[in-house]
Parts: sequence; C-alpha cells; structure tokens
Amino acid sequence: MLTLNDTVSLQDAITSYHYSQSLTEYIRRKTITVKIGDIPLGSEYPIRVQSMTTVDTMNTEGSIEQVIRMVESGCEYVRITAPSVKEAQNLENIRKGLRARGYTVPLIADIHFTPNAAELAARIVEKVRINPGNYADKKRFELIDYTEDEYQRELERIREKFIPLLKICKEYGTAMRIGTNHGSLSDRIMSRYGDSPLGMVESALEFLRICEEFNYYDVVLSMKSSNPLVMVEAYRLLVNRLDAEGLKPYPLHLGVTEAGEGEDGRIKSAVGIGTLLEDGLGDTVRVSLTEDPEFEAPVAAALIGRYTNRAAETTPIRPITASPIHPFQYSRRKTKEVFNFGGGNVPRVIADLSAIEVTQYEDLRSVGHFYLPVPDKWKMNDIGVDFIYTGARPSTFMLPMGLKEIVDYEVWKTALNQEHQFPLFTLAEFEQATERSTTLNFIKIDAATQLTQEQIAGVPVVLLLQTDNAHAMPALRRFMVDLIEKGMDCPVVIQRTYSTENSDELSLFAATDCGGLLVDGLGDGIMLSAQYAAEVDNEERLKYAKQQNSIAFGILQAGRTRMSKTEYISCPSCGRTLFDLQETTALIRKRTDHLKGVKIGIMGCIVNGPGEMADADYGYVGIGKDKIALYRGQQVVKKSVVANNAVDELINIIKEDGKWFEPEAIEL
Ligand code: SF4
Repeated sequence: MLTLNDTVSLQDAITSYHYSQSLTEYIRRKTITVKIGDIPLGSEYPIRVQSMTTVDTMNTEGSIEQVIRMVESGCEYVRITAPSVKEAQNLENIRKGLRARGYTVPLIADIHFTPNAAELAARIVEKVRINPGNYADKKRFELIDYTEDEYQRELERIREKFIPLLKICKEYGTAMRIGTNHGSLSDRIMSRYGDSPLGMVESALEFLRICEEFNYYDVVLSMKSSNPLVMVEAYRLLVNRLDAEGLKPYPLHLGVTEAGEGEDGRIKSAVGIGTLLEDGLGDTVRVSLTEDPEFEAPVAAALIGRYTNRAAETTPIRPITASPIHPFQYSRRKTKEVFNFGGGNVPRVIADLSAIEVTQYEDLRSVGHFYLPVPDKWKMNDIGVDFIYTGARPSTFMLPMGLKEIVDYEVWKTALNQEHQFPLFTLAEFEQATERSTTLNFIKIDAATQLTQEQIAGVPVVLLLQTDNAHAMPALRRFMVDLIEKGMDCPVVIQRTYSTENSDELSLFAATDCGGLLVDGLGDGIMLSAQYAAEVDNEERLKYAKQQNSIAFGILQAGRTRMSKTEYISCPSCGRTLFDLQETTALIRKRTDHLKGVKIGIMGCIVNGPGEMADADYGYVGIGKDKIALYRGQQVVKKSVVANNAVDELINIIKEDGKWFEPEAIEL
C-alpha cells in the first residue's frame, strides 16, 4: 500500500490514467452495495437522488414538513445538518415524526467538527456524513512542515477520534459518507498536497484506510468542489487510487458545491456531475442550488435520467485503448490559430440563426448585439456572440464590426459579401470545391468520420463537429482523440442540437455534452442548435436563441474557459444558515453582476463558509444574527459588519482593489 509519507512516490505511482470502464461505451462502474435504511446504494441499483434540508434542525415540525416536500419532489435520501449534540439528538424527533406520517426515507446526519454529535447521530439515523477535513481537526490555516514522525502522530490522533464512530456505525448498521470538500481540507493535507485533487483524495483515504482496517465497508465517498474541473479530476483520481491500492469500489456521491442559483447553478452542476455520469461514475447525486431543496431533486433526476437506456441506445463507437488526455490535470488541446479560433483564443460562441429570419437590427439583440440609434452605434453585452450562422438565408443588412457571419457554401459561392461571410461546407462539398475562403472555412463533420490531414491540408479550416449518437459526449471525444493521435491541430467547434420543449433539459444536457469535453481541454467553440416545430414563430425562435446564447456562455464559464459574467459561489443553505441566502444572493447579484470574471462567495455560516468558497475573490459570510464578515480571498478584511451595510462595504472592498466599475448607463 502507498503510504501518506511519500508524496513523490504517490504521484509517480499514478502511471495509469484508468478511471472509467470505457471511454466509448456506457458502462456503469461496478461498486459494492451500501445499505442505507431500506434504500440500498450502489451499481446494482438505480442512481439515487438526494438533497439536504435548509430548515433549522431544532425546528422539528418545519424539518418534517420540508423533508416530506423533498420526498414528494423525488428525494430518496435526505440529509440534515447536526452542528452540535442538541441537533443530533433532535434527529430522533424528526425521524419519529416522519415515520408516524408513513415516510421511511433514510436520513443522513451532516457533521462538521463535532465527533460527539456524529456518535450520537449514528445511533439514530441511517447514515452519517463526515468531512475528513474537519472531523478531527480545527482549521488554523497554518502551513506546517511535518516531519515523518509528526505526520504519523497526526494520523494516530485521527484514529483515536474516528474509531469510536466506526464502532458505533458497525454496531448500529449505520452507513457513512466520507465527504471531502475542496475548500475545507485539513492543514495537514494542505501542507503536504496543497488544495489539489490529490490532496482531496488523500483526505478521504486517510479515513477510509481506518474503515477497512476495522472491516467496516458501508462507506460512500465524495469529492466536492465549487470548481467543476477540480471536482471531476478529484473523483476520477479517487477511482484510480481505490483500484491502485486494492481498496473496495465504494459507491460515489456526486455533487458540485455552492453551484449557485438558476441557470448558472444548473449549468455548473451539469458540467461537473454530467461529465462523470457520462463515464459511468456516480451512484447518487445531490445538486446544490441556492433555491429551496425541493427544486434540486428534479434537476438531479433529469441529469440521471439520461442514462437509464444509454447503453442500449448507443451506436458503437471505436474504443479508445490509451487516451492521450490526462484525466486528472487540465490541459487544453493544442490547436493552431485559424482566424480567431484555436491557438490562444478563448472558445468562440456561434449562434445558429439558420431557422430564423434576421431582417432587422432588432433581431440581433437576442444574441447580445444592440443597435443604438443615438449615437448611431452598435454595442454588445458580455454575452455577445462572435459569429452567427444564417445557413441559406443570410442577414439582409450590414452586421456590426464585432460580429461575423457563417453561411452555407452554396450561398457563399454566389455572395457579393464574401469578405464578411465565411462558408460552411459538408466534407464532400469541401473536397470538390473550386473556391474556398482564404481566411476561414467551416466543415460540418460527423463524429464517426475518420478525417485525414490530407483532406484539409493547406486550407484554414475549423471543424463543426456533430453527432447523432445517443452517447454523444464520448462520440465527440472519440473524434478529437483521433485528431490528437493523428497530430491534426485544426480547431473544433462543438455543435449540438436540442429539442425546444424543455429549457431545463437544454441547459443540463448541453452543459453535460459540451462541458464534458471542455473539462478535458477539448473544443474551441460551441454552437447550440434547435429543432423548431413549424408552429413556433420567429419571435419565439429569437427568444429561444437568446436562451441558447446565455447557456453557451454559461457552459464556457462553468468549464473555466471563458469568463463572461460575475461568478457567484453561493452555498445552498442548511440549518446553520444565518441570513436569507436567496434574498441576499439576489441583492448582491443585482449590484455586482456587471463585474465580469469577479468571483464572489456568499456563505450562510462561518463554520464552513470560508473554506467552501476557496475559489472566490471576495466573500460574504454570515457570522451571527445580522452580522456579516467580508473576505478578500481567504483573508477576512471586515470582521463584523451590520447586515444592512454589508453589500455596500463589500463593494467598497472591490473598489479599493480597483476592480469596480459602474454598470453600463445604457440598459443593454
Ligand atoms: S456554508 Fe451554507 S450550506 Fe455550508 S454549512 Fe454553512 S450555511 Fe450550511
């Protein structure tokens, strides 16, 4: 077994990139079964949906009512925070109340810092969740250079604190989640591994090894982060390390922490959770939104639902025997620059307007370009598209400078405006064409095509990659792996088409399919398309295009490849929350949502908040009734601000840093 004492040997040992049964076939990872009340968890069973209450745990009736609403919305497990012994004790009343009303949903106690609360809860509920970063440690944010002896003594200290809980769980048949959070790793782990996916994995393995030593296997594991890239890398690495160390294949609980609210929260969750589900990882899902918990389960169910028949629906994809993509460390596929695609350029967004009449300036508002009669100028907002694809019906007016147009090859051939329009070819058209653009050509290509360098040599080409395969993300990835293996460096735009029926599906499925590729460093742009029913009129289509555009930019932001909005890392709230998170998040968003690229953490409590917002530039954290602490990065800069003044004070800190500017006077 690899020891914790040798970081170098551990990193060297990651010679295999193995983490998924197959990168091209949908095969769910085989796990052991963990019994959680009467709803078992593991690969023999469907992927489960769960969520967490937000009502104060001491509010017994309120908690019962909320749990019932959550169950009715689809939750199969419900987690409740137990910050101290008194809340742990009250879980008994909540459980009894639920049973009295005929609800047998397994309950999970959420524990941070308090082993005595965990030991009590483990006697009452079906599962306890511990955070290995703070179960036996109080975080002092100290970097300590441990000697080997000191490190061993630390591990001994963990054992002493953890073994009593293990024994109780064994005795009572209680399951446990060892739930690592990127933002709350112990000082010990941070000192040795940093806040890396490797540190996150080791944080859980420290505790898991003790479980196995005591033959306790009712364990579920999670590796959450508010950054979907870190989260995906950590889960993959976890699976790799479990196999490498000969530990059991424990079920995985998937989640992106502090995903936020609305569309952004859904997209961020889907990029992280969906990417892992595509590769067959994950046995239960919790989507964390800054919304009432009953809104979370349907999102989780929609993400999971795609995989029920996935294996049967997939058209076979050529297997990948050795992937050239590093699954535990982000790096973008190297491409040559073609016009403004690839190379060092941010991924581009193309709006598909080919089924929409674009006849007046107004029509471009939907894709972020605005004509202002006074002073007779075009403006664009932060999500103004880079290109529009108008297919066979090009726009009838001169487009703004910052916007380019793609038209079908047949149209382009006869166009008067060839310099401002670029052609989209089929591969056959491209090969037979006598005329091509000298600056930029698009080729529509199916992911099953085996393209060769000779077919596109010497011409500035960007591929518009698409597939009809139900296992879409892996099919698209297979094509790009092929390009890498052949040394082909042309940029690739990911094109996906979705039905217009369900906007949740558009954001979740597009974020999974495109986000899964971005996480692996693949893709130099996105184009989302729609199949419109004949009765959908032009106005409706423009509205839909606006939504697609927002989603496309949201996916790029969640994939950390192009920041076009302010990033909010807001906790989902729980029984510890000290202010109205939804209201406060809305207020902060209203004042700051023009600060493109700035990351603001909004956390309901001081216990976990500062850790959970590891990634944020600024933090707004509840420390008591009507009292807020304000952070710059991980440093508290205002310890106790009256809640009424806290948003103004937060803006003052941003101003001090020179990152503030006034919102655009003209409403775009
Ligand atoms: S940060 Fe938010 S969700 Fe996390 S424990 Fe505190 S209040 Fe609860």
